[in-house]
Amino acid sequence: MLLWINTIVRRPKLATKLNVEMSRVKSVEEDYGKPLTPERLEEMIQRVTGWALLNGAQRKITATEACERVEHVAITLFPSILPADVLRKAKSLQTSFQTLIYKVANDHEFMKECFSGLLSVDAFTKQLWDIYETVTNEGPAQEISLTITRNDFMMEPAEEDSAKENCKQVEFNTFAVGGCGMANSMVDVHRYSLSLEDIPFEEKQLPENNSIDGMARGLVKAWQLYKNKRAVILFVVEPCTPDHRWLERGVYRLDRSIKVIYRTFPQLIIQMSFGENRELIVDGVEVAVVYYRYGYAPKHYPTDAEFKLRLDIERSRAIKCPTLAVHLAGCKKIQQVLAEPGVLERFIDDTDVIKDIRSTFVGLYRLDAKDSSKIITQAIQTPERFVLKPQREGGGNNLFGDDLRNYLEKIKESPERSAWILMDRIQATRHRNRLIKAGLGPECRNVVSELGIFGVYISTPTSELENFESGYLIRTKPEEANEAGLCEGLACVDSPFLI
Ligand code: ADP
Ligand code: MG
Repeated sequence: MLLWINTIVRRPKLATKLNVEMSRVKSVEEDYGKPLTPERLEEMIQRVTGWALLNGAQRKITATEACERVEHVAITLFPSILPADVLRKAKSLQTSFQTLIYKVANDHEFMKECFSGLLSVDAFTKQLWDIYETVTNEGPAQEISLTITRNDFMMEPAEEDSAKENCKQVEFNTFAVGGCGMANSMVDVHRYSLSLEDIPFEEKQLPENNSIDGMARGLVKAWQLYKNKRAVILFVVEPCTPDHRWLERGVYRLDRSIKVIYRTFPQLIIQMSFGENRELIVDGVEVAVVYYRYGYAPKHYPTDAEFKLRLDIERSRAIKCPTLAVHLAGCKKIQQVLAEPGVLERFIDDTDVIKDIRSTFVGLYRLDAKDSSKIITQAIQTPERFVLKPQREGGGNNLFGDDLRNYLEKIKESPERSAWILMDRIQATRHRNRLIKAGLGPECRNVVSELGIFGVYISTPTSELENFESGYLIRTKPEEANEAGLCEGLACVDSPFLI
């Protein structure tokens, strides 16, 4: 998701772990270069943020209404050290995860088992579920579906050897994944900052990251499969989020004959209609592919008209990116159930793949099982070891620390607890970098990073047409921040310095 909101909490006090880690906190600036003087720092910030703007790592200025007034996004001054095998491993899992999620989305019985307990206590998910059920009962008007994913991980010191790192899954995003344009820009920005400081690096240590190319290829391929050269690709957006323009440019570069149109929910409510064979028509033009960058949060559906719109799109012949089934399969509830014993085996035969996927899971717990009171008590006693998550996207919805404890106390006996899942808090490997973001000092500080792997998946219910990994995004935040929000939070776009 694009937006994350942050709050700061005190870091859990894990004395022994802290001592072990203290010795290994690394940074490119301090380990490979020399610490910057205050004068040099100021100059570096100016030059590197200028380079970021030049490379398109930009966003709308928050304080203005004018969409075209932009500033650089929050960035790290230098890339962050990342073991090359961690990036390789995370990337290598993408196609298996995509197949898994698609199989889940197509298993109506499984979806029903997962969601049945929470629909009576989660009104928003229920509304989406009803649309999904309606469409499933009617049968699909379009067999082909496109999904653009981002699998988010944090890196954790390996238990057997704290010098090694394992990637642990935060969540698998199937809807409106963002940050791809910024991620693309950062390799050039960080190659530049290293050069300014004469820090030597090999090209392969800051590898090219062409997430846009792959995603654009996915959109173009879906458009071709629709087989109507006059049909357009519809980007469902909120005004003024420039990130998806990168994708339009990617499409344009691949095939200039393909038209992309942008519409908001309110515009579509007025302008959308159906053709004779359930073609989706917007302003008289047929839509081949609907690409959602909006529609994941309850506030996007202020009235029934927005839900009706979603149902209409879902019922249409247009290829959806993603379908509602895949949207729902990306819910945290599914992630939690997939981590239960034996569940991966329902979808995957290859035991090596199962092992690899499972190795990225941390503890995930339902709160409505017979024996849930044990884990609930643990979380109330040691909230710093857990994250409490509802079925929401977009950041700012999870609970940490005291908020988690208080909320769990409140819901522990009530049916509402079925709407939440509990997750072990990942104790991410810390390193050091400078965060160039308004409201944060640029001093070299302890930070943690999140690695998101992008992917593209096109299929029919019975066959996989495309399944590939498509680059990555690294977000880095102060170690004490809870969430890694790029737009509203404390996180900065980063890139890896592979060792
Ligand atoms: P959303 O759908 O709102 O993006 P996420 O599950 O991705 O929800 O959580 C938002 C952020 O919260 C993550 O980007 C990460 O910074 C933090 N977070 C989530 N789960 C964990 C976890 N298990 N351990 C540590 N941090 C987490
Ligand atoms: Mg997330």
